[in-house]
Amino acid sequence: MRIVFLGAPGSGKGTQATLLKTALGLAHISTGELLRSEVAAGTELGRAAKAVMERGELVSDAIVLGMLERRMSAPDVAAGFILDGYPRNLAQAEALDALLARLGQPLDRAVFFDVPADELLARLTARAEKEGRADDSPESVAKRLEVYAEQTAPVIEHFERQGKLLRIAGLGSIDAIQQRLRVALGSATA
Ligand code: AMP
Repeated sequence: MRIVFLGAPGSGKGTQATLLKTALGLAHISTGELLRSEVAAGTELGRAAKAVMERGELVSDAIVLGMLERRMSAPDVAAGFILDGYPRNLAQAEALDALLARLGQPLDRAVFFDVPADELLARLTARAEKEGRADDSPESVAKRLEVYAEQTAPVIEHFERQGKLLRIAGLGSIDAIQQRLRVALGSATA
């Protein structure tokens, strides 16, 4: 199964992807994680991305697409994947469609985790205290939510037009949401 996870920062995409990939034996490709590894390793790409990420803005489409193309050529991806954190704007959505068409691996589903804005803010504030991610400062959190609303939210309609969108209510316990997700994916592929 080839799936994209969509949702605002704090919507639980990463947590749900980690649980689902184990259950279904899929590769979990998080562009945020890939970028953080490049930053930690001090690569040229990481050095270019670091300040942009700390401000809560988007890293350039060309950099992220190049990194994604390399990851997509790894052998584990052939069994299916969950793409988490990409696409983040309409240009990336179109680049993804083209990349997957070229690889002969079209998407099956795009899952949107729907979480109200006040809950997102509460989760991101709690995560900032616990994990101390470099982009969890109040300014950066506000910027990431703004970038999401302006650039990423339109991507939901892109997949809706393709008839691939599944909406999952993202409130409740982690397990309850995972259950909801599996039921939705099961019925969608039945
Ligand atoms: P995430 O872990 O998905 O919240 O991503 C953390 C940060 O990495 C984002 O705030 C962006 O600065 C950058 N990033 C991750 N994915 C992308 C993407 N698809 N396009 C541009 N920037 C990205």
